[in-house]
Amino acid sequence: MKVIIGGIPGVGKTTVLEELLKDGFRVENYGDAMLKEAIVRDYAKSRDELRKLPVVKQKEIQALAAEKLAQFKDVIIDTHFSVNTEGGYLPGLPVNVLDTLHPDLFISIEADPLEIFERRKNDPRRKRDKDSLEKIRSHMEANREYGITYSAMTGSPLLVVMNENGKVKEASFKIISVIRSNDGGGQ
Ligand code: AMP
Ligand code: MG
Repeated sequence: MKVIIGGIPGVGKTTVLEELLKDGFRVENYGDAMLKEAIVRDYAKSRDELRKLPVVKQKEIQALAAEKLAQFKDVIIDTHFSVNTEGGYLPGLPVNVLDTLHPDLFISIEADPLEIFERRKNDPRRKRDKDSLEKIRSHMEANREYGITYSAMTGSPLLVVMNENGKVKEASFKIISVIRSNDGGGQ
């Protein structure tokens, strides 16, 4: 089955997904697929530049990345339900992307905004935006609403999973059990 996982930056999505990788699931990162397309076109050199590109370019490489990711039948795609661009929220899964990917399940990873605030401060590997607590809260709300919309558009369920500090294992167990119950233990 095709599973789409979204969560705002710093929610711990990648950390939760590392647990799923260890369990033998195929995980593909949408940002990586976009960055490859951006590099060959000389649009950007790093993943944190992608959301600063003009919207037309983001949409162009977003669609190209979807074509590449569509080859995987059983996959968990690590992405964003909404990208915080300078001109507003950009949907991570607009209708053309949903039509290309045909997802079976959407998972929204969420956390306490204060925990996200602290995680972003302590992540030296990334150029995270220095949003206020209030901005983090509203992006998380928008993200959930985008997730609900994708679910309604496709008829595939939306599962909300909390990733609380120190509880990565609980979050990954929940995801694994839902995926296994959905596809009869396949993957
Ligand atoms: P990440 O490493 O998951 O934070 O992703 C890196 C960057 O890739 C994000 O900041 C976005 O600019 C971009 N990205 C990832 N998924 C999508 C998507 N579905 N649509 C548009 N941009 C995306
Ligand atoms: Mg990530």
